[in-house]
Formats: sequence, C-alpha cells, structure tokens
Amino acid sequence: MTENSDYLRLLRRAKQEIPDSLSTGERFQLPEPDVILEGKSSVLRNFMDIAERVRRDPEHLLQYLLRELGTPGTIEGRRVVFKSKVNPAQLVERIREYTEMYVICSECGRPDTKLVKEGRVHFLECEACGAKRPVSVKRAAAVQEGPAVREGAVLEVMIEDTGSRGDGIARIDKYIIYVQGAKKGERLNVKIGRVTGTIAFATVAPQ
Ligand SMILES: [Zn+2]
Repeated sequence: MTENSDYLRLLRRAKQEIPDSLSTGERFQLPEPDVILEGKSSVLRNFMDIAERVRRDPEHLLQYLLRELGTPGTIEGRRVVFKSKVNPAQLVERIREYTEMYVICSECGRPDTKLVKEGRVHFLECEACGAKRPVSVKRAAAVQEGPAVREGAVLEVMIEDTGSRGDGIARIDKYIIYVQGAKKGERLNVKIGRVTGTIAFATVAPQ
C-alpha cells in the first residue's frame, strides 16, 4: 500500500518534469452535441464523435445518458436515437457531467485517463499525471427533483455496516438504506427499491 503510493508520487513527480510540449496539454473540448427532432424522437447525430473524443465505450456513455435523462434510446450507426424529446441543454449538461465523472483527471484536469475496474469499483487512472481516484457518482443537489433516495434511483453508496439479517447498511441524508448482499466497506452503485419513511431497501446495481 505505502509502496504503491510512494511509487505514484514518484511517477507524478517524473511526469511533472516532462515539458508540456511532450504531454497532451491542449485544452479539452467536446464536440457540440448536434441534436435534431425526428417525429417524437430526439436524435443526437454526432454521438460517436463525442464517444471517441472522450475515449470511452459508447455503450457506457449511452447507458449513463439514458439513465440520467430517463428515456430509452439506441445507437444507430454514429447516432443515438432517444425515444422521447430530449432537451438539448439538458443533454449538454449530462454529457458534461459524464466527462467530469468518468473522463477528466481531478488532479491535473486532463482527459488522458482510462477507467479500470477493481472488484466492484471503477477507478479513473490518469496517464498524464499518474493520479488515480475512485469514480464517484455525485449528484448535484440543486438540480435534483425530490429526494435522491426514491424508488428506481441508482445511487452510489458506501456500505458502513452490516444489519442483523446480513444486509449491508448505507446512509444518505436522513435515509438508512439496506442493501441486499452488500458487504461492509464496499462502495457501489445500488438500485433503490421500496422506500418507507426514512428506510429504503436496495439491490446492487450493475457497476
Ligand atoms: Zn492527471
């Protein structure tokens, strides 16, 4: 553990000494999402350009957008067809969130990162500075409608305890969340099921 962080520190220092011209220092810019309406569907015409720019699995980006926008949709060629009207401003915002969460290094601000999975946890590993952080699914409270803990929501939680029946226990605000099959110390995405007062029951969601 210590050895590893020493190594990372050394690596980081070494990278800092590389002249900027050798590393990818240019400002990261996403292609402007190109959205049109086709009947009752919204089409993101340059979806693949965006996925390629952020260098992430298109399916991963798609699933994030569908979940956050609350609409079904499919990849068709280089486009994504959303099966409902999608507000372009909201789409831009969701893509920006995805980029912050899954692409941009929080240490050096560069997009030269890769997602690695260790157990159930995804880490964002920076190829530019060597920093590594767990991907945290943060929720902007300001844009949240109603409580985050509601039926059907997928949230990232830290399992703090084990209940008497062996379920993992997590807490968000005033809610106590029982997560079936989760172990103490795990940080994972869970899907909220029944919510009764401030007690919620959840299952482990695809990570
Ligand atoms: Zn970095």
